[in-house]
Amino acid sequence: MNKERPRIVITDCDHPSVEIERAILSEIDPELILANCNTEDEVIEEAHDADGIINQYAPITRKVIESLKKCKVIARYGVGVDNIDVEAATEHKIIVANVPDYCIDEVSTHTMALILACARGITLLNSKIKEKRWDFTLAKPLFRTQGKTLGLFGLGRIARIVAQKALGFGFKIIAYDPYVPRVDDGIKLVEFSQLFSDSDFVSIHVPLTAETRHSFGENELKKMKKTAYLINTSRGPIVDEKALYQALKNKWIAGAALDVMEEEPPDWNSSLLQLDSLIITPHISFYSEESYIELKIKVAEAVCSVLKGELPRTMVNPQVVKG
Ligand code: NAD
Repeated sequence: MNKERPRIVITDCDHPSVEIERAILSEIDPELILANCNTEDEVIEEAHDADGIINQYAPITRKVIESLKKCKVIARYGVGVDNIDVEAATEHKIIVANVPDYCIDEVSTHTMALILACARGITLLNSKIKEKRWDFTLAKPLFRTQGKTLGLFGLGRIARIVAQKALGFGFKIIAYDPYVPRVDDGIKLVEFSQLFSDSDFVSIHVPLTAETRHSFGENELKKMKKTAYLINTSRGPIVDEKALYQALKNKWIAGAALDVMEEEPPDWNSSLLQLDSLIITPHISFYSEESYIELKIKVAEAVCSVLKGELPRTMVNPQVVKG
């Protein structure tokens, strides 16, 4: 009797090809379906009978999870799993695997690039030159970075490497993270309020959770130094963009640099986008040619492991196998 081939559904994927995933998964000879889902109903239609799901942005809600008949693993192309209802997956004994370590170098370097672009007025001056204005004073006032304080909100994998890189530039490093028991040399843990009041640059590196959503609202932004910058390479909704607009427009802070927004792509009529004191990139921190390949390999390996009856290298809900 022929053994049934496992069905693996890629709910959505904006990569040019899935040949890397196909090559890794060939070990378990799956039926591999590449779908193009945007909504939960589309995910249900494509994936309800999947043994394994690979997912990028499509919503894996409780309703989706309750529709899955035999799924053992949902693997996400990325670090954050905020588009997956992990609690529902855990209740249904489905492993949720992420790839926490494919782009630490890229995100930490992008964070430094945004910090340095703010510190040196790079994007403003670049756009002025293209309007035929050769005038460095347009970026005034700029301040020396040596000895300035970089405040890290969250001190996980990415933030620790940002700290190493920033120490090399002569920054002092402070961090707020109530979940870390100890810190590396050169980093001082502080209270949440001190992070705002003492930092010249505040950089966000927490996951998006109910607790961290809108952590940066009017109150926090008003407590920052007028010369300070806010950097976000984590998740858009951690910053209340209405409050950020007020902060930039009314010069409560000097500027902000975002790689992520509350809505992606943003509303093109948003007043925030018009401000010179805002630098913005289109959620690219994770990307390099090398990180892309590593991500695809690690996602496919996670699904392969679970469908072979093994544990994936990393998972966000280990309770599924402990209980
Ligand atoms: P990580 O899990 O290693 O670190 C997150 C840290 O945040 C942990 O130390 C945790 O204790 C801390 N934390 C959680 N809740 C907190 C709270 N309420 N207050 C303070 N600290 C809190 O994650 P990481 O690999 O460093 O990644 C951080 C985030 O970066 C990810 O969650 C993801 O959303 C984002 N990210 C973005 C991109 C991008 O392309 N822009 C790429 C990768 C990751």
